Amino acid sequence: MISKAVSQLLNQRKEKFLIPAEIVANVQENNSLEHAFLVLSKVKYAKIPVLDQDQHFKGLLSLAMITETMLGLTGIDPTRLGRIQVKDVMQTDVPTICPPYDMEEILHLLVDQTFLAVVDENGVFTGILTRREVMKAVNYLAHDLEKEYTVEKK
Ligand code: AMP
Repeated sequence: MISKAVSQLLNQRKEKFLIPAEIVANVQENNSLEHAFLVLSKVKYAKIPVLDQDQHFKGLLSLAMITETMLGLTGIDPTRLGRIQVKDVMQTDVPTICPPYDMEEILHLLVDQTFLAVVDENGVFTGILTRREVMKAVNYLAHDLEKEYTVEKK
């Protein structure tokens, strides 16, 4: 259980956490890896969300997952990328979060992930919440906790 004061101060910043779906680079699960390779190379993010045609969140795709499929027995074979779809190689065991935010769960999950996919109650992708934005809130907390609370050593 995280402290009430910490939870309250972090929650004051929660509107700033979400990067909305409209500005999050993504690929569709039916896209070819060739297309996904171009998207990932262009946006320069390590991992991006994978969606279906109805904007449901399906998983994550990284450049490493794509390059792995190019490795044949005799070297690199880029022609494979046109024949394989994103859904064949994407990561599917991905935690998602659904508002209202549970700060304790978010802090826990962000230990291992640089961002979390946010979905609505129907699994529709609404955006991402990044470790970077939460770290900004933690920074604010570290500076402002004693402006709003009296902290005493037990
Ligand atoms: P950042 O907080 O900018 O360091 O982003 C952390 C991770 O979140 C990136 O490596 C990406 O995997 C993902 N990410 C952040 N912003 C975007 C975006 N606009 N589109 C897609 N993925 C993003």
